Amino acid sequence: AFEYAPAPESRAIVDIKASYGLFIDGEFVDGHGSSFKTINPATEETLAEVAEADAADVDRAVRAARRAFRGWSRMPGKERAKYLFRIARIIQERGRELAVLESIDNGKPIKESRDVDVPQVAANFFYFAGWADKLEYAGLGPDPQPHGVAGQVIPWNFPLLMLAWKVAPALACGNTVVLKPAETTPLTALLFAEICQQADLPPGVVNIVTGAGATGHAVVSHPDVDKVAFTGSTEVGKAIARAVAGSEKKVTLELGGKAANIVFDDAPIDQAVEGIVSGIFFNQGHVCCAGSRLLVQESVAEEVLGRLKRRMSTLRIGDPLDKNTDIGAINSAEQLGRIRELAEIGDSEGAERWSPSCDLPSSGFWFPPTVFTGVTQAHRIAREEIFGPVLSVLTFRTPSEAVEKANNTPYGLSAGVWTDKGSRILHMASHLRAGVVWANTFNKFDPASPFGGYKESGYGREGGRQGLASYLKGEI
Ligand code: NAD
Repeated sequence: AFEYAPAPESRAIVDIKASYGLFIDGEFVDGHGSSFKTINPATEETLAEVAEADAADVDRAVRAARRAFRGWSRMPGKERAKYLFRIARIIQERGRELAVLESIDNGKPIKESRDVDVPQVAANFFYFAGWADKLEYAGLGPDPQPHGVAGQVIPWNFPLLMLAWKVAPALACGNTVVLKPAETTPLTALLFAEICQQADLPPGVVNIVTGAGATGHAVVSHPDVDKVAFTGSTEVGKAIARAVAGSEKKVTLELGGKAANIVFDDAPIDQAVEGIVSGIFFNQGHVCCAGSRLLVQESVAEEVLGRLKRRMSTLRIGDPLDKNTDIGAINSAEQLGRIRELAEIGDSEGAERWSPSCDLPSSGFWFPPTVFTGVTQAHRIAREEIFGPVLSVLTFRTPSEAVEKANNTPYGLSAGVWTDKGSRILHMASHLRAGVVWANTFNKFDPASPFGGYKESGYGREGGRQGLASYLKGEI
C-alpha cells in the first residue's frame, strides 16, 4: 500500500543563534546577569543560550519603555495603527519561520503552530490595529488615555499567541511594553523583537526581557510599571496579586482552569467526540481552557467512551515538525513529571487509566493520550489542573446534576455543551460559572471575543472591546 509520508517541515528555514541577548530600546543588548539554556523538548537538544535579565536589566527596559511612552502615546492613533498593520503583515510573511521555531522550542505539532497559533497571532495584530484610531468607541469616554508602561508576563503553552494577546492591545491604546516570555520558550518572542525592528517600531515601545520567575517578579513589581498583565498558573497569579497589592498598578490575571465538556444524550455524537478529542489533546492538553473533565450523560456514556477510545487510537504522536503529527512533545521535564505524578495519583485513588498503544520516541518528553474512567468528584484528577493530555470522565443523569458537577471547581474559565436543544444551550450558558461557554464546538477563538475567567481562573478580560479597555484608564 502507498504510504503518505511527507517530509517534515524543514528546520533549515529558521536561523537559531547560539546565544541571545535582551531586546531593550530597539536593540539586542547583553544582560548583566547569567544565562540559561532553552531546549527542544522533542529531542532534549540545546537550542540556544539566552540572557537571564536581572533587576538592573529590567529597570533599563522599563526606563526605555517610559521614554518611548511620551512619543508613542501622543502619536495619532492612525499612525500607531500603521505600525500594527505592518507587524501583522510581517508575521504573515514570516509565518512558516515563526511556526517552525514555535514547534521546535515548545514541542507543539507544526499543523497547530502553522494553522492555529501563527494565523491567530496575525489576526490579533490586525484586529487591534483597527482599534488604534477608534478608541473613543471603547466605552470609556471621548478621549481615553493609556496607562503608561505595561509589564507583561506570559506562559509557555502558546508563547507567541499570549504575546500577541498582550502586546497588540497595549500598543493600540498607546502604552509601551516590557514583556517577559516563559523560560522554556523564549525564542519566538525574540524573533518577534526582530520583527519589531523590521517594522521600524520606535525604540523602547516593545522591550523583551528573558529569564525565569525572578525576572517576572522584577517586571511586575517595578515601581514605574503602571499596568500588569499576567497569564500563567493560579499560584503565581496569587503571588503577583500580593506583590502589587497597595500599589496603583492596574492588574489583569489569566490563570488556570479545569473545564467541563458536557455531553447530553441528544448531542451529535461524532461531532462531540471530535470536540472531546480537540478539547483535551490539542496542544498536548497544555491549554488553560482545556476540556479536561468530560461530563457525559449516563445513557450515552458507554457509546461515547467506545467511540472516543477508537478515535484516540488514530492519533499520531511524535515529531512536532511532521505535518501528520497530532500530539507533540510535553514542553519540559518538569511538566512531564507533574503530569506523571497526577496520573499516578489517579491510579492510586482507584480510577481506571486507558491509553491507546503507541510508540513514544526514546528521547524527549512524551506522554500518551490518556483517559481515566470511574472518576468521582473527590478524586484529585477531577479537581486539579493536570495541564497535559489526560481526560477525567464523570457521568450525570439530569441537566441540574451536570451544572452542579461542572461548577464544582475552584476554577471558572471555560466549558463546553453538546446538545441538539437550543433552549438547553441557553439554560446551561446562564448557569455555568465559566467565562467562556462553547456550544457544539470547543477551543474556538476570535480576537473580537473577550476571554477570561471567574473565581481562581483570574480577573479581567483579554480580546474584544473589553480586552482593549483594560489597556485604557477608566472602568468599562
Ligand atoms: P507559571 O505561573 O509557572 O509561569 C508563568 C510565567 O510567570 C512564566 O513566564 C514564569 O517565568 C513567570 N513567573 C514565575 N514566577 C513568577 C513570579 N513570582 N512573579 C512573576 N512572574 C513569575 O505558569 P506556566 O507553567 O508557565 O503556565 C501554565 C499555567 O498557565 C497553567 O496554569 C495555565 O492554565 C495557565 N494559562 C492560563 C491562560 C489563560 O488565559 N487563563 C492561558 C494560558 C495558560
